[in-house]
Amino acid sequence: MKKTITLLFTVLVGYAQAQNADSVAIRKIYNEALAHGKSYEWLRYLTKQVGPRLSGSAGAQKAVDWTKQVMEKEGFDRVFLQDVMVPYWVRGAKEEAYIRMGKQKTTVPIAALGGSVATGPKGVEAGVVEVKSFSELRELGVDKVKGKIVFFNRPMDPTKINTFEAYGGAVDQRANGATEAAKLGAVGAIVRSMTNIHDDNPHVGGMRYGTGVPLIPTAAISTNGADLLSKSLAENPGLTFYFKQNCESLPDAKSYNVVGEIKGSEKPDEIIVVGGHLDSWDLAEGAHDDGAGCVQSIEVLRIMKALGIKPKRTIRAVMFMNEENGLRGGVQYADLAKKNNEKHIAAVESDNGGFTPRGFGIVGTPDQRAKVMPWKPVLAPYGLLEIGAGGGGADIGPLAQSGTVLFGFKPDSQRYFDYHHTTIDKFETVSQRELELGAASMAALVYLLDQHGL
Ligand SMILES: [Zn+2]
Repeated sequence: MKKTITLLFTVLVGYAQAQNADSVAIRKIYNEALAHGKSYEWLRYLTKQVGPRLSGSAGAQKAVDWTKQVMEKEGFDRVFLQDVMVPYWVRGAKEEAYIRMGKQKTTVPIAALGGSVATGPKGVEAGVVEVKSFSELRELGVDKVKGKIVFFNRPMDPTKINTFEAYGGAVDQRANGATEAAKLGAVGAIVRSMTNIHDDNPHVGGMRYGTGVPLIPTAAISTNGADLLSKSLAENPGLTFYFKQNCESLPDAKSYNVVGEIKGSEKPDEIIVVGGHLDSWDLAEGAHDDGAGCVQSIEVLRIMKALGIKPKRTIRAVMFMNEENGLRGGVQYADLAKKNNEKHIAAVESDNGGFTPRGFGIVGTPDQRAKVMPWKPVLAPYGLLEIGAGGGGADIGPLAQSGTVLFGFKPDSQRYFDYHHTTIDKFETVSQRELELGAASMAALVYLLDQHGL
């Protein structure tokens, strides 16, 4: 009995000491990020000097060159590019749209959805059917939809506390609306912007066409525009809607994932990835989406170097290309990892904005998640309280097939969709402190993953 108690005591003391060492290291990580952080100035450059960087564009190439340079300047052990062919969609001249009632034309803000076809030089004008769901659309049937523009107007549910849930509940309209409308003979699809706020900014985003269905043009309309269109339709069901867009899909272009790494000192063959996506929508500086995640990921490695932390495992910062309209970079990264027999034990992604940290979502087995739970007490003082099963991230998703445990950084979600995929996703909307706290949170998690494994 006495022996058992002594053993138990030794284990507990050992555990407490390990936890104390972790606490001290994590305190230093936060100090470094908050007192000497570089993420904010990097973000300023990426948004203001590089700017919009949709896959295939000159901006995307500039972002590749610049992040590579930054990582080389920081002296990471290895910095390299991974080739990847990406879709190259261009918006062309700015869109035009108006509601016509009799002689009166009221202009409304729209923006073509990524991947959409153009309207042709004369634009499209037709009567409008408003629906809130695909089932409502199907009930209308070909008779009422043929030759019309379908207006998808289901808002994001404002009662959802996590705005990503509300987004998830509405985004099918943007992704598949054009296909569903075309199946019934519609000539265009207009989609209410994915945001809870009421403003004049169309929120763009990716869409895809189904096979064997006519390709009809589709655009996002601002929420104010959507409200006006809905109200106008109620008063005047015979109104027409006109829109013209000039977008085009060019042949796939060559681009790159940018990778920087610090080699592991004990288990160099075990890799931990921390990343974000380097591409942004063409209308956006891509500050929250996802410049923040990129600079935070580079900052994780910088912090480790600055503190003289020699990781046991290899730590990689990955700038994934083409999350927004193809995910080719994430798929390519996982393919290469498999081909090169690399063992990725964990991947952490930041692609939910540069806001105040709340925690991490984990994609893994219950056993793997259980291994993370003892870390909660050392992360709690920094506001990282929401740690449990949840989403990882689109770019790291393909790694899950090989058993990599995924972690999605979870900042506060309340303002993310105010800016998401719009011209106002700007550097000025990012708080330096919140951005740095996020970088430190990711560095703390990567530190624990490296120290304790999974
Ligand atoms: Zn994103």
